[in-house]
Amino acid sequence: MAEYEWLKPIREMVGREYGRIYAWDEVNPAMVRQWCEVMGIENPLYTDADYAAGSEFESMVAPPSMLQSWCEAGFFRDSYAPGSTEENPYTVLKLIEAQGYPSVVAVNSELSFARYVKMGEKLYYTTRFDAISEEKVTALGTGFFVTLIMSYFAQSALGEDEKVGELLFRVFKFKPANPVSQKTANEAGIPKISRPKPGISDDTAFFWQGCEQGELRIQHCQTCDKLQHPPGPVCMHCQSFALDYQVVSGRGKLYSFVVMHYPEVPPFEHPNPIGLIALDEGVRIPAGLVDVAPDELQIGMPVTVKFTQVETDLILPLFAPVTPEEAGGETHSEQMS
Ligand code: ZN
Repeated sequence: MAEYEWLKPIREMVGREYGRIYAWDEVNPAMVRQWCEVMGIENPLYTDADYAAGSEFESMVAPPSMLQSWCEAGFFRDSYAPGSTEENPYTVLKLIEAQGYPSVVAVNSELSFARYVKMGEKLYYTTRFDAISEEKVTALGTGFFVTLIMSYFAQSALGEDEKVGELLFRVFKFKPANPVSQKTANEAGIPKISRPKPGISDDTAFFWQGCEQGELRIQHCQTCDKLQHPPGPVCMHCQSFALDYQVVSGRGKLYSFVVMHYPEVPPFEHPNPIGLIALDEGVRIPAGLVDVAPDELQIGMPVTVKFTQVETDLILPLFAPVTPEEAGGETHSEQMS
């Protein structure tokens, strides 16, 4: 494949070394113990000081597979330990992205070790932009394999820092082969993909039958008189099996919402707003939102159910903002505020 002009400066970056990222903490027993618990590792070399004292290491060491974790950023985004570089070794991915390769997937992560690290050691790593492939065509799409190598060192008070391990990290930065949006499918003459069908059980059938009849039915407990959604075989409040349903108003407020942008999954239109509706009767129900632009959505806005035939055999309770006509002068919007 012919080489692109824009790739030249990127190829010239190959071999570039980026500065140090320091560990927040020295290698310590607390983090090791927590790692071992989470990973299910029971080797006493890592957690039992007496046992480790009698081993060839003479004291506790850290699990080698934990190497990467020592130098991770803190809980908040990009919160690296003081003294760490502000250079971003992923700059190369941004440069490729700007040429029309928006997607990324990690393809290789290979950790190798030079030696065990010991309690009290302070680690850092440096990153090298190791390689970028020719343009490759894969099942996922067309793009470039980019390889970074992180080298981990233990700081030494005297003499040279010692390399303790290495992480090879390779990603594929690509243009997707099949952006399968419904719009694309339509243009390509691909038959319409159906909406996924709900799994309907004896416990939930009343809800779907209600949708067919234009009723929003919410499960009701005959014992404690409470409502619950989604429906189940037993009352979540009092464990009674005596359940029926009530037909509710279909009115409520937008309690929360998300707008799905990616990945585009047919047959849904994107961006695809999905709401969590606090019904006036007090229970919440998740549902697709219609008749509203995503940027007009507001927490707390009054909404009302719109039973919508999305397939020949599927009617869904979607929700739309209450229009002024529907509000009809009543003070619905003030009721819950
Ligand atoms: Zn109950």
